Amino acid sequence: GAADVGTPRRTKEIIAKYGFSFKKSLGQNFLIDQNILNKIVEAAELDKTKGALEIGPGIGALTGQLAEAAGKVTAIEIDNRLIPILRDVLAEEKHVEVVHGDVLKLDLAKLLQEKYEGMTGVSVVANLPYYVTTPILMKLLEERLPLEHIVVMIQKEVAERMAAKPGGKEYGSLSVAVQYYCEPKLVCTVPHTVFIPQPNVDSAVIKLSLRDKPPVDITDEGHFFRVVGASFAQRRKTLANNLTAFAGKERREAVLKLLEGCGIDPTRRGETLSMEEFARISRAMLEQGW
Ligand code: SAM
Repeated sequence: GAADVGTPRRTKEIIAKYGFSFKKSLGQNFLIDQNILNKIVEAAELDKTKGALEIGPGIGALTGQLAEAAGKVTAIEIDNRLIPILRDVLAEEKHVEVVHGDVLKLDLAKLLQEKYEGMTGVSVVANLPYYVTTPILMKLLEERLPLEHIVVMIQKEVAERMAAKPGGKEYGSLSVAVQYYCEPKLVCTVPHTVFIPQPNVDSAVIKLSLRDKPPVDITDEGHFFRVVGASFAQRRKTLANNLTAFAGKERREAVLKLLEGCGIDPTRRGETLSMEEFARISRAMLEQGW
């Protein structure tokens, strides 16, 4: 079976058998701790009626466990050297499919439609390559893929930014973007020692549960995210200064008035604003045609 690929012994055996060498440039840090693998899979709330989409299966440590929990598993791997290893390791798992490709370039909407017929829901479950964590997650969210949960191992610092609430220094445009689409929950932090090779950053597992609809009322999403971005452009500056840079210097007084009209003190910093307050500002600016 493939359920024990993520034990240190089996991982070392597979690496030796195929003469595999790690590519740092592809973010290859393989998990060798069955407890952590269990925690990730459990957080995804899978059963045999559900599908799992894995990004970056490596030699199949997580894939083997997903195969036990889900009704269908698709695993997308960019490194062609890993494809024959995965096909071999997962040979007995008939409901697991390995796809060779770059997740950032694949048509995921189409893939989801094709691979999960009859499943009652699909979740992304992955130990992500850290060099492309944010682009991968933003692609999953912005394409509005029909996913239930996204449970991923990522850099701890990025996980904290994604889950941050207003008021702290971790809170920024990434927090607002992620929380616009999902409800985030930190599942656990993870020590370096559970990977080979060991990464030089701390890691954490985060669970993002996709919302049915955004938590705020917005007329123009692109504009809303531009307002959020502008509000955090210079973190030491006040909201009034950042938004004046966004709306145009000649609108300095008008920006102050607009913020007052929104009931928001212009001397506040972007990092103290709730999503609802950003939405209010965006709506008011759009009314002015800014
Ligand atoms: N899931 C395995 C585990 O937990 O042991 C491996 C995780 S490792 C952190 C990340 C994996 O993602 C590597 O196998 C790497 O080759 C793959 N990868 C990197 N960039 C990718 C991309 N753009 N698309 C698909 N896979 C990618």
